[in-house]
Amino acid sequence: MNQNKNNNFSPLTPNPSLYSLYVHVPFCEKKCCYCSFYSLAGYENKIDSWLENLELEAKRYNLNPKIKIKTLYIGGGTPTILKISQWYELMRILNENFNLENLIEATTEANPNSLTPEHIKFFLENNFTRVSLGVQSLNDGELKILGRLHDSKKALEAMRLVKNSGLLLNCDLIFAIPGQTLRTWANSLKTVIKFASHISTYQLTLEPETPLALNFDNEKLNEDGYKFYRYAQYYLPRKNFFQYEISNFSPDGNECKHNLAYWTQENVIALGPSAVSYIDGVRYKNPASISKYFNENLIEREKLSPRESKIEKIILAFRTKWGVNYKDLLPEAKKILDSMPEDLFIKSPERIVLSPRGMRLGNSIWCELIDL
Ligand code: SF4
Repeated sequence: MNQNKNNNFSPLTPNPSLYSLYVHVPFCEKKCCYCSFYSLAGYENKIDSWLENLELEAKRYNLNPKIKIKTLYIGGGTPTILKISQWYELMRILNENFNLENLIEATTEANPNSLTPEHIKFFLENNFTRVSLGVQSLNDGELKILGRLHDSKKALEAMRLVKNSGLLLNCDLIFAIPGQTLRTWANSLKTVIKFASHISTYQLTLEPETPLALNFDNEKLNEDGYKFYRYAQYYLPRKNFFQYEISNFSPDGNECKHNLAYWTQENVIALGPSAVSYIDGVRYKNPASISKYFNENLIEREKLSPRESKIEKIILAFRTKWGVNYKDLLPEAKKILDSMPEDLFIKSPERIVLSPRGMRLGNSIWCELIDL
């Protein structure tokens, strides 16, 4: 892996096509018990310095003409921890350095605890199209175990606020929470579909360094996860939320276009600490440390070989309902897939796609492919 330390560093050629843009807001009100994302709690006094450094980073991409951005995603962390004045500053920085006139989608993540009507007003005025809300569960006991700041009442208020604004609402939900039952999971899904236009479901994974990992057994949770996932696969399509990716369900046409850019290996510029850009087959990783991001500007550069890139492309494509075109499949990969049980796949003359069962066992399929 190469490392670049250069204030003028920009991986772009002067003739860019449409890019996607991600901004990482590395601040949260409180650290949730299971979270291993790079985010800091209690550092609100650093938000203005983060914005100053974000502007320096964005300027490195400021070409003439400006790069056209097709999807924008503000993630974190907790973007709704930003005050409205800080949101104005963020959008000024992005507008000054990128061409946002061709946006087909603009999303921000939000937490039920900090999302306000003022945020919603700002998002509408600034052409945002989607809010991705960290609901996680609508059971108060489960929210407590996860260490979330909100309860189910607060989550419902936030969902109502977004839905009534006319913005598209994605709800994140977590399954295999200790103590969760199929009944509480079904209840969370049943309530969320009344508000959401898109649902992302994630299995709780206990990363070793998180507080929750000290009290619960990851292996046991993983075994339990299967039945929750299977229920979501059964229930959501009957309510018009079709599975279009391993973790994502939506009515046709509501798929998250920004995430599709990752899964189809399109170019993504990512700003902020721990953000990872992917540009023309090269990955650029910012340090997952705010002080290193502010002071050292050290970027890790990882160039994928054509073969690595192709294998990654196959794995990413398999995550989606569109699967892989046979002409993009390496012969070795085809041999491995042919040796696996037939019911993991749906095959047509042109494409091979994971079946619902294949989606449930996706991890073991990637493991076979990644070592090719
Ligand atoms: S709000 Fe999200 S990013 Fe922040 S600590 Fe909780 S899970 Fe992590």
